[in-house]
This record gives sequence, C-alpha cells and structure tokens, in this order.
Amino acid sequence: MKTIYFIGECMVELRENDEDMISRSYAGDVYNSAVYLKRCFTDTQTAVVTAIGEDSLSTKMLSRFKDEGLDTTFVFRHPDKNAGMYYIETDDTGERSFTYWRSDSAAKKVVRFLNDDVIRGLAGANMFFISGISLAVIDAQDRGAFWLKMKALKEAGVTIVFDPNYRARLWQSEDEAAAEFKQAFSLCDIALPGVEDLTVLFGVNTAEEALAFCHQYDIAEVIVKNGPESVITSLEGQQQNHPIVPVTNVVDTTSAGDAFNGVYLGARLNGRAIDEAVQLAAKAAGTVIQHPGAIAPKDAFTQAMAACGL
Ligand code: ADP
Repeated sequence: MKTIYFIGECMVELRENDEDMISRSYAGDVYNSAVYLKRCFTDTQTAVVTAIGEDSLSTKMLSRFKDEGLDTTFVFRHPDKNAGMYYIETDDTGERSFTYWRSDSAAKKVVRFLNDDVIRGLAGANMFFISGISLAVIDAQDRGAFWLKMKALKEAGVTIVFDPNYRARLWQSEDEAAAEFKQAFSLCDIALPGVEDLTVLFGVNTAEEALAFCHQYDIAEVIVKNGPESVITSLEGQQQNHPIVPVTNVVDTTSAGDAFNGVYLGARLNGRAIDEAVQLAAKAAGTVIQHPGAIAPKDAFTQAMAACGL
C-alpha cells in the first residue's frame, strides 16, 4: 500500500448562510488535498500530520478526518491550545471576507510532537507533503528543528513534495517567507507551485518563468499551475504543456489548487503517467470550483471523477 503524509493545519470553518445562520465545516490546504486524494484513491493510506486541541471542536474535527478515511495516527492533541478557526461572510455583491483565529492554534506547535519515534514512523512513507502555509504556521523558533527532521525523512528515502501556497499575511516579512521557501525548494523532489505564489517573492510572472525558477534547484518533478490557462510540467528536464478546459460555471475557486495537488499526487503514487495525472487533477479542480466551500459534496465529486474512470 502506498502512503502519503500531509503536514499542516486544518481549521474549523464557520460560514454565515442565507438565513443568517452559521454552518460549520473543516478546511485547510493540506487537509483539503488529503480528502480529495483519498476520495479518488481509496487504497492509498492518506494521513494528516497536525496538532489539534482537547476541546470539543477539535474532537469533532478528528471525527471528520476519520469519516473521510484519513489516517490520524499522527494527529497530536495539545493540552492547552485549540484548533484554529475562521469565519466567512459574503456581502450583497457576493464578495467573501474572512476573519481568522489561528495565531495561537495547536497546529503551530506540531514540530514539538515530531520526536524520534514519530520520525521513524513517518520515514516509512512514500511521500511527505509540505505547503507554504504549513511553513508559515509552524512557530518560528521550531523551523530549524523542522528542517532537520525533513532532511532525515528525505535521507530515509521519502519523496518530499512542496507547494509554496504563498499567503503574505501569515508571514512577518517577505524575506522570512523567501528564506523558508528556498529551504523547501532545495529539499523537495516534487514542486507544485502556482505562478502567483512566486510573483511577489521571486518576481515570477509566467508559467515558463516559474519552471525556470524551479530549475535552479535539483527538483525531479515540477508542476506549474496557472489557473484556467494551462499546466506546465517537467520530469527529469522533459517539459510538457497540458491544456486546461476552462470551466464556465465557476462558483468558488477556494481549494482548486488543493484538489489538484491531492489528485495529482494520488495518481502519481498509483503509477499514472504525468499527462494522465494532470488530466485527473484538473478534472478534480474543475469540479471543486463548481461548488461553494473548500470541500465539495462527496457524491457530486466522486461521480464527476468516476466519469474519468476513477
Ligand atoms: P490555486 O488554487 O493554488 O491558486 P490555480 O488557480 O492555479 O491554483 O488553480 C489550480 C488548478 O485548478 C488549475 O491548474 C486548473 O487545473 C484548475 N482551475 C482553476 N481555475 C479553473 C477554471 N476557471 N476552469 C477550469 N479549471 C480551473
């Protein structure tokens, strides 16, 4: 059985709905990717590595992880911190705004739970996924220890995957983010950047520039996402352009990139060639953006993917 770990933060999502009522769900980039991967590749052991609290919302989040079929062996419970949370409001014009309570969340402490036994457990994985949001969330003083642990995983033969997913507000400064991203690009074997993730920090404006940027590093497999425009990949220096069929009925683009990442990595873990993996990932992303919220309804999503033979 293939195994992939996603490290980062899942948050409680509160959404104001039409009747001035609030509905609750759970979301976060790495969690979203794990969910979509598992829905498509049920035989792949898919795990979230994170810290949550001992509060009741954290317990409900943990149940949701299990309901989605995710492995929770490395979901740690912090004795005095809680799960992060955010609130989505939509104004009269349909514009969404977000308010976050995550600056003191349990997930910021996850590195402290990664002791030698845990690292030995994680070292049995095929892939380990890190996002730029995971890096931003980790307590700054734990980052040195984090990179040593990631190097140990790589030396043990785990494929390290990185999506920069740049969110300016989560970083103290652009320099801080750029330094962490360079560490990640230096270490990873697969990179999945969106063009916009590299614009502010590295002056990258096109998919070709994003690919050239990644080629400064020794990264075997690069997948550049560029919204509905196209996807460009390079495997061991072999470049391919993959056209995307634009979706006209776009409802909410939240988690398009996350769905793409999860399904792409699931496909690659299960032996699919790059071109097929991109087509499946694009189908997943194109389906997710036709539904509101980060996690599309399971039935609609699996039906759409079944049409592609999954
Ligand atoms: P992110 O969510 O990380 O910003 P992108 O906006 O680049 O990522 O979108 C990720 C993927 O979602 C794209 O590579 C593409 O496959 C798909 N996608 C995004 N927008 C559209 C669209 N309008 N029509 C079809 N597919 C889309």
